[in-house]
Amino acid sequence: KFIVFEGIDGAGKTTQMELLAGFFKRKGMPVLCTREPGGTRIGGRLRNLLLDPACHDINHRTEAILYAADRAQHVYEIIRPALDRGITVLCDRFVYSTLAYQGWGRGMDMALLLQLNELATGGLLPDAVVLLDIAVPEGMRRVMGQRSPDRLEGEKHVFFRRVREGYLDQAARRPDIFQVIRGDGTVEEVHRKIIEALGEL
Ligand code: C5P
Ligand code: MG
Repeated sequence: KFIVFEGIDGAGKTTQMELLAGFFKRKGMPVLCTREPGGTRIGGRLRNLLLDPACHDINHRTEAILYAADRAQHVYEIIRPALDRGITVLCDRFVYSTLAYQGWGRGMDMALLLQLNELATGGLLPDAVVLLDIAVPEGMRRVMGQRSPDRLEGEKHVFFRRVREGYLDQAARRPDIFQVIRGDGTVEEVHRKIIEALGEL
């Protein structure tokens, strides 16, 4: 099985993915946790580039292509081989991040992004997507810790509101694979909700 975690920054994807991995391991299931961007050695290089403040002036298309390049390497080097061996793969972000951030967030053409995702994945789709949904101010608070609000704050909130909307839109279109989970409870509460939602799986 292939399970993807999605949600805006600060939603709790990484934490919840690791907790779920622990749950599966205790049941004796072979699990692999991985992430995008940066799930491979080459992807790690791409991640550094994508997150480097010195690259803030990156063109939207360049950025989208680099996320797709990271994904292509990740699918062919890590995800597909693991699935072929019967390992359950848990992945922090996948194609839905591209549509939410580059599509809804940055306003890029959705049809082009769908093609780009297809190119990167060869059509591989997950069995389930856990969308951790959280209000934007709460997500921002978690990411920034106690840091005082800066000039970019307002701008970021507008951006992440669009990203969140993009996730909810995708979830509404694919109720067969998306599980929307409220991410604002305690870590333990959210973990239990995820296990409940993935019950059939
Ligand atoms: O989830 P993670 O912390 O690894 O994401 C790294 C950064 O990349 C986040 O700040 C996220 O907002 C950004 N990102 C993005 N577009 C994507 C995926 C991630 O802007 N498609
Ligand atoms: Mg994370």
